[in-house]
Amino acid sequence: MAGIYIHIPFCKQACTYCDFYFSTSSKMVDELVDGLILEIKLQKDYFKESNNDVINTIYFGGGTPSIIKPKHLQNIIEAICLNYNVANEIECTIEVNPDDCSANNIKAWKEMGINRVSCGVQSFVDKDLIFMNRSHSANEAEGAIKRMQDSGVTNISIDLIYGLPNMNEKVWAANLNQAKNLEVTHLSCYSLTVEEKTVLAHLVKKQLVKLDEQAAARDFEYLMHWSAQNGFEHYEISNLCKKGFESKHNSAYWKGIPYLGIGPSAHSFNGNFRQHNPPNMFSYLKSLNENKSYAVQEHLSFTEKYHEKIMIGLRLSQGIAHADMQNYLDDKIAKHFKSTLNKHLEKNNIVNLNDNFALSNQGKLIADYIIQDFFIA
Ligand code: SF4
Repeated sequence: MAGIYIHIPFCKQACTYCDFYFSTSSKMVDELVDGLILEIKLQKDYFKESNNDVINTIYFGGGTPSIIKPKHLQNIIEAICLNYNVANEIECTIEVNPDDCSANNIKAWKEMGINRVSCGVQSFVDKDLIFMNRSHSANEAEGAIKRMQDSGVTNISIDLIYGLPNMNEKVWAANLNQAKNLEVTHLSCYSLTVEEKTVLAHLVKKQLVKLDEQAAARDFEYLMHWSAQNGFEHYEISNLCKKGFESKHNSAYWKGIPYLGIGPSAHSFNGNFRQHNPPNMFSYLKSLNENKSYAVQEHLSFTEKYHEKIMIGLRLSQGIAHADMQNYLDDKIAKHFKSTLNKHLEKNNIVNLNDNFALSNQGKLIADYIIQDFFIA
């Protein structure tokens, strides 16, 4: 079992909070797609060394993959099918923005085998969308979801952001209820965070915008309560789903299943080693046109592997199996791990679930602090 991620680094406009790798110019789309296909061919043996070379998931992320032509997406999928061992039934996801969801695009995506859509809704309130500089309105988002459902796309995830300035509890509750009423099957909910070199960072620095951490914690607490009442399983700290609609692709990342990332800024893991393409489209294309991989190898130390295990495992509702954890402990780490675990068990920040340890609801509210506490300084 393995997955392929394709990074499409183009967006119509820059959202105020976003620090992903993307360009708002579409001049290079054709060249980039040619480059992606070159990389797909060049990396065709990437999974050969692991026992997991059957591709079960493909994920188009970005950026905004929905702004490139369906023909481009189809050429990428064909290149993957020609060069990799793709299972008959796979989960194939595309991230879309609502304003790209025309009936024609939806039909084309469906015909090429895309069977899951992750839609960047972010909010059902127009004033919040304007603040975030999103390229769509709340009406367009609702229309896009209904059009997809009418076309037979039923596995739909939406992104929602909480902790927005002046967002009160009622607005957050209304956003969640609107998602439920629209019968989406998956939600990814993120707190608005200030990333360096974004418009939001500038506004906060100039004191033109103030974020309220306590309000964000209140919204997250409400999310936990709401999910339990409304039939959504809170399976990862930022992700909720109707039964059976977990993201298979993202769940594979969290379980340590190999994946190959194609495109500038994409990351890969072959079961042993990690690599990533630096975020530079021009150098990426130059390298591939010379038939050379642009990927940089990453070697994690034993301590870094332990940190990663804690960081990923504690975000999952199932937590980390005690038995599995033993592979990440040496004498020094084991002592610190054990005392930290006991401290958080005593405080009820962590609970023991059939030999797995996981964050309690109270612990989820301070997840970043607890994760840091497990780290070796
Ligand atoms: S559309 Fe997505 S990737 Fe593009 S700027 Fe907005 S949040 Fe970032």
